[in-house]
Amino acid sequence: MKLRHSALALVATATFALTINAPVLAEASSHNHHEIHWGYEGVGAPSHWGDLKEDYHLCKDGQQQSPIDIGATVDASLPAISVAYKPGPLTVVNNGHTIQVNYSNGSQIEVDGKKYSLLQFHFHAPSEHTFNGKPADMVIHFVHKDEDGKLGVIDVSLQKGKANPTIQAIWDNMPATEGKKEVATEINAANLIPSGLSYFNYSGSLTTPPCSEGVNWMVLKQPIELSEAQIAAFTKIFPMNARPVQPLHGRHVKTH
Ligand SMILES: [Zn+2]
Repeated sequence: MKLRHSALALVATATFALTINAPVLAEASSHNHHEIHWGYEGVGAPSHWGDLKEDYHLCKDGQQQSPIDIGATVDASLPAISVAYKPGPLTVVNNGHTIQVNYSNGSQIEVDGKKYSLLQFHFHAPSEHTFNGKPADMVIHFVHKDEDGKLGVIDVSLQKGKANPTIQAIWDNMPATEGKKEVATEINAANLIPSGLSYFNYSGSLTTPPCSEGVNWMVLKQPIELSEAQIAAFTKIFPMNARPVQPLHGRHVKTH
């Protein structure tokens, strides 16, 4: 009797919760019934990320978040980045937030005696980091992990100019909706790294939920180019997928 009573109470509570949440649930994305998915507009916009899930709390209360505006910098003797990427068959994923190219063939970078393996690279439009308040047209984030599990990201600005053949090979195979495409076409991520490897450096976070911190950001100063049509092909699928800049909270951006 007691059990039955509390079971009824539970049903009543659940019904009530469902009623008051109904307008929010109706707006939630179609591929899950209860969860509001993160994104770049509406109820899942960046200003709400920290409230969508307990796991995402750093998105609102983290003190070392990314991206940031790169304005004032401090001079430092930053270690050189050496890039050793290899060509591999192309795997392109549309994960609903960006176009991502997965990499798993031992491509790596070495910075300050530390080796980081390339896991994937992906795109944002416009760039997430801004430079004295201005974003680049797009950006590529090359995401690496070192042996201790620490993430290091190389950020390469893309600016409107000549068509880029490596990006074209990716665009030719990118799924317009969520999904994955694996093709025999070889791609070399090294072709998307500029010749100059001078960079800005600071400690930040993932720019998407869960906004985990401890990410070593290496923001290259030299951009590479892609054409206006190539920018349009990406923004047709993702009109805007950049998180707004976050407070520095006392951090300094180092450069050399
Ligand atoms: Zn990114």
